Amino acid sequence: MIRTAALNGATHDAERKILDDIEHQFQLGQDALIKITEQFLEDFRLGLGDYNHPMAMIPTFVTGVPDGTETGTFLALDLGGTNLRVCEVTLLGNHDFRLRQQKYKVSEALKTGEATVLFDYLADSVDAFLTEFSSATGSPVSTSVANPFDSPTEVPLGLTFSFPVEQTALNEGKILTWTKGFAAKNAIGNDVVRLLQDAFDRKHLHVRCVALVNDTVGTLLSRAYTAGSCLLGGIFGTGTNGAFVEQVSNITKLGNSPARTKGGVMIVNTEWGAFNNTRTTLPTTPYDNKLDRESINPRKQAFEKFISGMYLGEITRNILLSLIDASPRPLLFDGSSSAPLNTHYGLDTAIISEVEYAWESGRGDEVAPQKSSGSKPNWQSAHFTDVDALSPQDIARLERIRDILIQRLQLAPENVTLRDAAIVRWAASLVANRAARLSATAIAAVLVQTSHAKLGGGTPEPKENIVVGVDGSLIQHYPNFQTRLRASLQSLVGEAVEKRVEIDLAKDGSGAGAALCALQAIKQGL
Ligand code: BGC
Ligand code: MG
Repeated sequence: MIRTAALNGATHDAERKILDDIEHQFQLGQDALIKITEQFLEDFRLGLGDYNHPMAMIPTFVTGVPDGTETGTFLALDLGGTNLRVCEVTLLGNHDFRLRQQKYKVSEALKTGEATVLFDYLADSVDAFLTEFSSATGSPVSTSVANPFDSPTEVPLGLTFSFPVEQTALNEGKILTWTKGFAAKNAIGNDVVRLLQDAFDRKHLHVRCVALVNDTVGTLLSRAYTAGSCLLGGIFGTGTNGAFVEQVSNITKLGNSPARTKGGVMIVNTEWGAFNNTRTTLPTTPYDNKLDRESINPRKQAFEKFISGMYLGEITRNILLSLIDASPRPLLFDGSSSAPLNTHYGLDTAIISEVEYAWESGRGDEVAPQKSSGSKPNWQSAHFTDVDALSPQDIARLERIRDILIQRLQLAPENVTLRDAAIVRWAASLVANRAARLSATAIAAVLVQTSHAKLGGGTPEPKENIVVGVDGSLIQHYPNFQTRLRASLQSLVGEAVEKRVEIDLAKDGSGAGAALCALQAIKQGL
């Protein structure tokens, strides 16, 4: 029998206040969103003007986007936040590409050990992939463009490296810092292409790393390849970041270098995950502060820690723990916790995603858009107390959430009420809503920066769609993430612009993007 937690009057008020306070801390009103976007634009300006700003605004030396007619077959190596992938990408020349890939696991030991060991592992993975492929298909990788290398058998490879790198050329760049739980030693300050090539050479592999690309840039390029154009590539996954097509004249920190005097456009990797590292802009809760303090990179990647898949579960865990420990009476799970809840990063974002999915999908076949708070029925609020007032359908949804919590968080069934299930869903939605709204400020800032929109609206409807390519677990799988993001985007740039923003998944963007960059490098004779 499930406890239904009747509440008496006096405690009810105190509990109400605790929950209201939390809800209040996570809410971002329209004014706050506008201010944040303005600060974004200011930080873009600073980062374009000078090196060593938290918002790095990295020139990528990619000076155009593909149009979908490019052809060739390339190797791509993709080191992201969660996966290592080796792919063979064939650009078909008709806006389409074929990709064969193999995923490899990157252990915690590799992430935090010596960099040479990590890069040896990357080389070994490429070796394993080539061995498998050559045995299956004969000669695996060829390119249709003239191959300028000494050895005609050397295979060109594009590296997608999803960490901040200060690039100095298409095939050269120093690692600025690690993010997303990586901390390999003796890597920062070194050229990542060199680190990889040295590992290939140590193993006598006939592979040459010809191009380096951030995953956001890869996403942008691959979306441009399939869609014919693209303004912005965004990642909303384990980490978050965006790259966009900027006028070279605006990248004033390039001074009078040839890259600048040539004019035209260049893709800039914003590294927006570091926005608010100065901690002056985003309203920060105690749950965020705890996360940051206990993280591997305190005071770094502040924006990312509000937004990305690596952290949303952890913020939620911090809220749940505070409710378990609430005074004068526990507000959750009868005051009991569990091993996952007591473990750092023990509440994976996938679990809160499942909780929200169980809730949303119970409404009908499709995951429905979030209702505005004005019309929300009482079961959507943290104050929901009266299980008896619920429809059988709603009870079924809460029961599903309760099952998820019992299983995934290893909680004793007698300690989990339907009200607890509702509170966990409420906490998850607070955290995810804030993430989606903040993600919208980053996109809005790029639209304004590139003169596609004015902050606050008022721009007439653009003649052509504005193409945004996205990738990442959050935007792909988190229920309603994109719907929530779009609603905020509309409030920032106006409906006329928002409805012409085409946000689409750039599937396997990292792989195709690296191939497109490798092609570019070969054309330039690098
Ligand atoms: C990195 C970026 C990357 C993003 C998404 C961030 O932590 O700093 O370079 O693009 O994650 O993978
Ligand atoms: Mg990735």
